[in-house]
Amino acid sequence: MSINILKLARSNVQRLIPYQSARRIGGGHGDILLNANESSKPVFFESKKKSFHRYPECQPNNVISSYANYTNLSCNQILVTRGADEGIELLIKAFCEPGQDAIMYCPPTYDMYRVNAEIHGVEIKEIPTIKNTWQLDLLNIQLNLNRVKLVYVCNPNNPTGNILLKQDLISLLKITLGHSLVVIDEAYIEFSPKESMTNYLKKYPNLVILRTLSKAFALAGIRCGFTLANKEVIDILNKVISPYPISAPVSDIAVQSLEIAYIKLMQDRVLDSNNNRIWLIDQLKNIHCVEKVFQSNANYILVKFFMFKQVFQNLWDKGVILRSQNNKINLKNCIRISIGTRLESLRLIKELKIFSKEIFEGKTSEK
Ligand SMILES: *Cc1c(COP(=O)(O)O)cnc(C)c1O
Repeated sequence: MSINILKLARSNVQRLIPYQSARRIGGGHGDILLNANESSKPVFFESKKKSFHRYPECQPNNVISSYANYTNLSCNQILVTRGADEGIELLIKAFCEPGQDAIMYCPPTYDMYRVNAEIHGVEIKEIPTIKNTWQLDLLNIQLNLNRVKLVYVCNPNNPTGNILLKQDLISLLKITLGHSLVVIDEAYIEFSPKESMTNYLKKYPNLVILRTLSKAFALAGIRCGFTLANKEVIDILNKVISPYPISAPVSDIAVQSLEIAYIKLMQDRVLDSNNNRIWLIDQLKNIHCVEKVFQSNANYILVKFFMFKQVFQNLWDKGVILRSQNNKINLKNCIRISIGTRLESLRLIKELKIFSKEIFEGKTSEK
């Protein structure tokens, strides 16, 4: 007897478009991976722990106090999670009543806010950012706050790379006070550390900040992130988190990565990446198939291409894997490029120049 298993799933899960992670799309293809905003250089650690027959602490004390030290916050303002992604979901689980409450976010932005809301049957309100400046449309945000419990903003924003104006973030905190939490996703904040809003936690009880070790700390493989907020919010999230979210080897490595020497190494990698970004933007501006390069404050850049489809496919065929943004609102013909090593960037530029030459000069050189 055959049964339709899909029909057994919740209807919102039947309809769900899952997150298209770089690893799901790319598979094993390509040797230059510039599609997931990972650190292009590894850091090496050894797990000191050798036996694992006991459950770990739910909130490993040493990880929490290391991160408190790094951010200048108190331990009770910090939750450690399985990546920042888990923080996004826990907030929805804890604060949004399915079929009743809503979340808001400002596309084009990170897709996981939408995905988690859809999984939990929570309504979505999308208020696009202003085209090309990618700043918040505060007027429309304010007009649509009805039933919104969580407003997710991403700073620097993925995939556009821009920083949100500090006065806008403060206005957002003010207009939502008493109604909604403002969740600022600071996954890339180490690349522009002055823009962090951690100092505002004291003043705004509705501020929540998401952090991760996946990007600047070069630890995407261990899956470790943090939610920063006032104690009242952290206590609520602690009610809904799973019993043992952080495995012992993960907390062991996380603690090491937050030692002063490793933080210094992280800051060196950030400087290197930021220099490489400036170099890459400069190079791209001289290439024929590039229509526009957007300024960026993170470890990736958004680029608008002529003949976007051919450019993307051509690079893919050569093993240079980028992230298409063409299907996102206001990002027609755009590709996001992670900042790799200088060698990887040189390969990218070389392939783009060969492609441009074939397309734009090919016909004339045949004569
Ligand atoms: C990569 C990323 C995350 C997820 O980080 P993890 O800690 O790896 O789950 C969250 N937000 C944004 C904007 C990201 O780009």
